[in-house]
Amino acid sequence: MRTSLFSLTGLAVLFACGADTAGAATTSAGILVNARIHALDAAHPMAEALAWDAAGRIVAVGTREAVLAKAAAGARTHDARGATVVPGLIDAHAHLMGLGLALMSADLVGARSRAEVIARLLEFEKRLPPGAWLLGRGWDQNDWLDKSFPTAAELDQHFPTRAVWLERIDGHAGWANSAALRRVSRDLSGDWQPDGGRILREGTKPTGVFVDTAMDLVNGVVPPPDEAFRAEALTRALASAASVGLTGVHDMGTSAADLDLFGKFADEGRLTLRVVAYADGDSTALEDRCRTGPYLHPSGRVRMAGVKFYADGALGSRGAALLEPYRDDPGNSGILVTPPDKLLAGMQKAHRCGLQVATHAIGDRGNRLVLDEYAKVLGKDETGDHRWRIEHAQVVSLADIPRFAKLNVIASMQPTHATSDMPWAEARLGPDRLAGAYAWRRFEKAGVRLALGSDFPVESADPRLGLYAAVTRRDLDGKPPGGWLPDQKLTPAEALQGFTTDAAWAGFMERDVGRLESGLRADFVLLDADPIASPPARLPAIRVLSTWVDGVAVYTAQ
Ligand SMILES: [Zn+2]
Repeated sequence: MRTSLFSLTGLAVLFACGADTAGAATTSAGILVNARIHALDAAHPMAEALAWDAAGRIVAVGTREAVLAKAAAGARTHDARGATVVPGLIDAHAHLMGLGLALMSADLVGARSRAEVIARLLEFEKRLPPGAWLLGRGWDQNDWLDKSFPTAAELDQHFPTRAVWLERIDGHAGWANSAALRRVSRDLSGDWQPDGGRILREGTKPTGVFVDTAMDLVNGVVPPPDEAFRAEALTRALASAASVGLTGVHDMGTSAADLDLFGKFADEGRLTLRVVAYADGDSTALEDRCRTGPYLHPSGRVRMAGVKFYADGALGSRGAALLEPYRDDPGNSGILVTPPDKLLAGMQKAHRCGLQVATHAIGDRGNRLVLDEYAKVLGKDETGDHRWRIEHAQVVSLADIPRFAKLNVIASMQPTHATSDMPWAEARLGPDRLAGAYAWRRFEKAGVRLALGSDFPVESADPRLGLYAAVTRRDLDGKPPGGWLPDQKLTPAEALQGFTTDAAWAGFMERDVGRLESGLRADFVLLDADPIASPPARLPAIRVLSTWVDGVAVYTAQ
């Protein structure tokens, strides 16, 4: 909410007074008082006040008197009313545009009738640019009174011209309207069927529902999102991230086009969090970095000095590369999605260009391969300050965990992956391999730095859920009661460190963020309870009261 101007310096004050979404990234000097501040600074772990300058840099942290003495004349005072303050939360592994695009499709999960589906679509359409496809997902005719498959005609009544394409809850069927069907060049009438799929028809005419591979006929004509659509998607992702206390993300696999968009938002003062971007493999974005060096936006909001590669697949779909076959699929040991020599060449190129490497590795074979290749590429630099990382490090041979420490490799892990995967991980791996699965405590004991994140939109972007999963290893229903593989739990302080200080370090941002101390940026979050002292079961329910970046509120709870 924008209130009145307080001075002729205008905008600076406007945005410092608690806007729910920041427009221009102009800032002004401020003081936060009456707070319980976890500074995460060993010298001053707790403080009650914080001051920053007009550039958004912290100038003092400590007692109210000490901070008031150092604050700039005219700094605006904000009363925290006893709230707990932590450094801005950083998600060390996320997909910002992925979240935005997910937020740009209608959520139909749980719709109890066709009428409810239509109502949700009409509501959703209000925010869509003209001409854009209306995409949605999550319908399930089993939830409706009439359990027959829906038809194009039911959508046509409400959407005669805009193309509509809605994926079923399981992703194995799609429901299109006639405007969407008209875009498919192949004649859909007759009695032919694609291999591995089915076009539902009445007589020879398609009804609008496509099953399995038949969905490709429509997916193939959905236009890639245009600039306006992408900008709206990013806007929504930013608002969503700010509302859960995120002030930074490490964007894992950023295309040159995405980097341009982040930079444009930063130019316009609309980028309400700090993005540490990693180029999307051996791509244009990587070429650009090799040619012109690391990217750093003058605002400090966007940086790209690294690249993300993929070694293997994922555990759920049995694509993670394992040293021994899957327990529940004895002929299968997973897949290396990038041939090892190509992966090695990519790492060598990044090393030559002075870039940080982050590589996705989930299975124990994938992790071993990446460690071997990192050792080969880094050579005598392995003990240096390269901060190369393994993304997920999900199932690791116990013999390889100490190698992370030896090679100075960061384990970038996602606590909610453990609690999402725990119902079936043992079926895939058997009991023995679980010892090195989601083994946060073992990494910590081996002296490995843990950067924590969510992998949103695969998991929720909400870091409170990540803190909860890290501390309890339970699902949101509290199961299993003692936590899954409970000896691998982190303490609340360690979990918070993983989402702040250590995430900052993993992104070469420790001189800017991750702690609250003089000289760093005023990125912080006000909470209605203390995440370190609260009972762990309460963590998901802690309220984010406001989120601040460079001393400007980018989100305020209503
Ligand atoms: Zn990811």
